[in-house]
Amino acid sequence: MLKVDNITKYYGDFCAVDHLSFNVEPGEIFGLLGVNGAGKTTTFRMIIGLLEPTSGNITLNDKKIDYDVTDEIGFLTEERSLLTKMTVKEQCHYYGVLKGMTESDVDKRLDELLKKFGIESYKDKKIKELSKGNQQKIQFITAILNQPKLLICDEPFSGLDPFNVELFKNEIKEMAQKGSMIIFSTHRMEHVELFCKKLVVLKDGKAVLSGNLADIKKQYRKKNILIRGNIDIDKIKSLEGVLEVNPKGLEYEVKIADENVADKVFNEISQAKNVTKFVVEEPSLNEIFIDKVGETYEN
Ligand code: ATP
Repeated sequence: MLKVDNITKYYGDFCAVDHLSFNVEPGEIFGLLGVNGAGKTTTFRMIIGLLEPTSGNITLNDKKIDYDVTDEIGFLTEERSLLTKMTVKEQCHYYGVLKGMTESDVDKRLDELLKKFGIESYKDKKIKELSKGNQQKIQFITAILNQPKLLICDEPFSGLDPFNVELFKNEIKEMAQKGSMIIFSTHRMEHVELFCKKLVVLKDGKAVLSGNLADIKKQYRKKNILIRGNIDIDKIKSLEGVLEVNPKGLEYEVKIADENVADKVFNEISQAKNVTKFVVEEPSLNEIFIDKVGETYEN
């Protein structure tokens, strides 16, 4: 288990991460979210041992993270960090051996991964000759070459088309199923909703939301009602506890302050004869994020 226990990081007198705690169990895909400057990269750097926390502790399977443990960690950074003058094979040998693998182990694993990602023919190509998306694949392959117990993925899907996003997702899921711990950071909330059971949202270095995604959604009081039919919007808007009514395609989305308001809305529209849909749903993670953080995740 990765245990992040009450870590704080100061740069001079600026607090970038403030008393942050979370655990990631084997097999879990954990979301670490926040707007630009919230403290994600600082947290990642502390986890991989590049930065020392000002206070607090980080352990991987009860061991402090130092050079002995870094062999068990894979890090897919947001910025590209490829050795572009090398061929794919040369670069993977370089990083693989640094992570304690033999060249023949690297070769075996590399062939398997290049095949999985449909780029076997690129093994002896210089990285600088590859397209952006294929460079991203090589960066991902390099991060998972040593089958890390802990994999950190910072914006893993940037520059990828939808087909390749699926390939990456399947690989990440497969690694989790085999027992790896995955930390996942992205600006795309829909990926987090589909992917992560647990998450923490950072704002100014502090956790403003943390725990199990299903519980977070359940506990969040505001709900949405989706209604299809010719309804009297003004009447619904005037009900106490109705926050907004927005047309959405053929339907209306009614945002309500809490679940109890749904009865009032239902009573109001029950007079209408042409209502074919009335569904109370939990809000999306994106709505919760905007509410908690006070701004959109996109920059
Ligand atoms: P982004 O999504 O833009 O990558 P982030 O959530 O990764 O942002 P960090 O890079 O961890 O955020 O930065 C957190 C805060 O710490 C920011 O206000 C940043 O300006 C500050 N910071 C980061 N590195 C340093 C440094 N070396 N010295 C001083 N301040 C720093």
